[in-house]
Amino acid sequence: MRKTDFKQQREQLVERELRLLGVRDDSVLQAMRMVPREEFVSEETREFAYRNVPLPISSGQTISQPYIVAVMAEALELEPEDRVLEIGAGSGYAAAVLSRLAAEVYTVERHEELAKTAEQRLKNLEYRNVHVLHADGTRGWPEQAPFDAIVVAAGSPGVPAPLLQQLRIGGRLVIPVGEQQDSQKLIRVIRREEDDFEYEEMGAVRFVPLVGEAGWQEEGDLKRPSISPKGPTRRPGIPEMIRDSAELITSIKDHDFGPLLERIGDARLVLIGEATHGTSEFYRFRAEITKALIEQKDFQFVAVEADWPDAYRIHDFVTHKLRDEPRYWEAFARFPTWMWRNQEVLDFIHWLRDFNLEHRQPNQRVGFYGLDLYSLFTSIDAVLNYLDGVDPETAKLARNRYGCLTPWETDPASYGRAVLSGRYRSCETHVTQMLREMLERRAEDAVVNGEELFNAQLNAQLAADAEHYYRIMYYGSDESWNHRDTHMFDTLEKLLDRYREGSKAVLWEHNSHLGNAAATHFGKHGQLNVGQLCREKYGTEMYAIGQGTDHGTVAAASNWDGPMEVKDVRPSHPESYEHLMHLSEMEAFLLPLTKSNNPQLTTALAARRLERAIGVIYRPETERQSHYFDASLPHQFDEWIWFDKTSAVQPLSTKELSDHEPPHPFAVLDR
Ligand code: SAH
Repeated sequence: MRKTDFKQQREQLVERELRLLGVRDDSVLQAMRMVPREEFVSEETREFAYRNVPLPISSGQTISQPYIVAVMAEALELEPEDRVLEIGAGSGYAAAVLSRLAAEVYTVERHEELAKTAEQRLKNLEYRNVHVLHADGTRGWPEQAPFDAIVVAAGSPGVPAPLLQQLRIGGRLVIPVGEQQDSQKLIRVIRREEDDFEYEEMGAVRFVPLVGEAGWQEEGDLKRPSISPKGPTRRPGIPEMIRDSAELITSIKDHDFGPLLERIGDARLVLIGEATHGTSEFYRFRAEITKALIEQKDFQFVAVEADWPDAYRIHDFVTHKLRDEPRYWEAFARFPTWMWRNQEVLDFIHWLRDFNLEHRQPNQRVGFYGLDLYSLFTSIDAVLNYLDGVDPETAKLARNRYGCLTPWETDPASYGRAVLSGRYRSCETHVTQMLREMLERRAEDAVVNGEELFNAQLNAQLAADAEHYYRIMYYGSDESWNHRDTHMFDTLEKLLDRYREGSKAVLWEHNSHLGNAAATHFGKHGQLNVGQLCREKYGTEMYAIGQGTDHGTVAAASNWDGPMEVKDVRPSHPESYEHLMHLSEMEAFLLPLTKSNNPQLTTALAARRLERAIGVIYRPETERQSHYFDASLPHQFDEWIWFDKTSAVQPLSTKELSDHEPPHPFAVLDR
């Protein structure tokens, strides 16, 4: 293997393993990047030099696992001027790493042959600040004492007293201690005062025994394997903790939602996000959770990231006001069609319709609504239709006012641009006047037709918000994003008000709308979202769930307005949350975060990492820039659902409308 290959492997070891397993100290990571581990192992094991495992060296000893070397070095909290003592030089590798972090390294080895080889090797590689001594290290190195830090690379029955004595005040000693010869706990001792030693436990490890006066006896039954020597194993990393805390999903259809419903408790709002707009597993599992919430917790409506007028047709269908099949509608027939027109959604709609017929009185049927604001002209049509029926005079006036926007019907985005450039007057007053008019209608029409009035009012609100949206779209994405998410939240609030006291709703939107924006890169830059607004208002009365995946296929377009494609999802980025989930080696699971049985895991996951978001557009070529952002998962969501390998939703064949296309901001993140 060429030198450059090793260099690359070393880089990968640092980036893909050490960092992910939780090594945070940049100087330690940098030292690990600099020392060529391949030079410290035997010819036969050289090709495994950058596996994160201990490897056999001569005399029945081992070179430690890189992760353990890094963890111990990190725990020593070295300063560049420090003098360090290591017990158990072995190959000399750890000493070389330490030599990049401290001024002088003194290392003691009891096997003469190992000590000699290590000394020669370090000399050849020009590690001039490492000094090797062949001796029993349990006595320390009194001539060079005191030390700022001491590290013991072999398992001891207790902390040898000479080492404590040779530690400077303020110094750190890291040592594996265990009553059994083949398992220990890593202990850190800090000498606070002359006689004041502070002890701290760091996790389970496995080292070869420390043999010597203040360690294990040489004679007796030292079970020291000679062929495959036991080396230190790592303490449980995040993937292991995930494995221990996760609740397995073995079947989407038959999952037992008891524990999840318990965690959700009395929450009035359950937000179920998704990392893509085209993954079948997300849609199906979300539907199953929703069914359980409706059946067992009396949730009253589902509100989704879709246009109000289109979703309203579904509402009418599931509450038995419409007869014709959603499959044949023109609703959701515009880009991105597959997002709602798919088999997964249709199955849920049918379930909901049947459920409503069997289990709910006509006035208590579970509803289905859209919260989004892209339907400027369909909403205007809905208002006009309503007025035609109840008040033809006002309908005429409304046609006049909304007429201001008519020239832009095929391209509302250019309306915004035209207003901004001063070439066209703004229609703001027209739409807000209409909204006021509609809101005042309450008294007159509500008696006759409460539900239809509500629908028309929401459409008038939508027309006003959408007009505003198109006008500010050009000022920058944050402002229009915030306007859109605020509109979605306000619509949700109107719905909650409309249902009876303490009403309960399930939300279906992209993770990036439902995970608290304050815990993400976007929040830092001034963006808010539905999840954050819900959190601020409802606190623990809401429960936010995110869903993610590692690889598989997804339904998405390459460009705005482009055809749906089934695209391969790239395996997740090594620095992402997704990669940690993937490393847990479980196919599908629920992972409670705020209600985890392991607070240590939640803390470990809180440090910001990358998270992937695939919208209606997916560009794997520029994935890192377009689809990853950084976030703190446990602050975004209460719970995380994982499907390691996923597949694209099944789109329904649809009669495409040649209509205009509204822009959809959830395209790519660097929009
Ligand atoms: N740090 C080494 C790995 C150490 S393995 C590396 O990076 O390669 C543990 C080493 O401790 C073995 O080489 C073993 O021979 C040595 N050892 C065990 N007891 C010892 C003692 N009392 N004094 C010095 N070295 C000892």
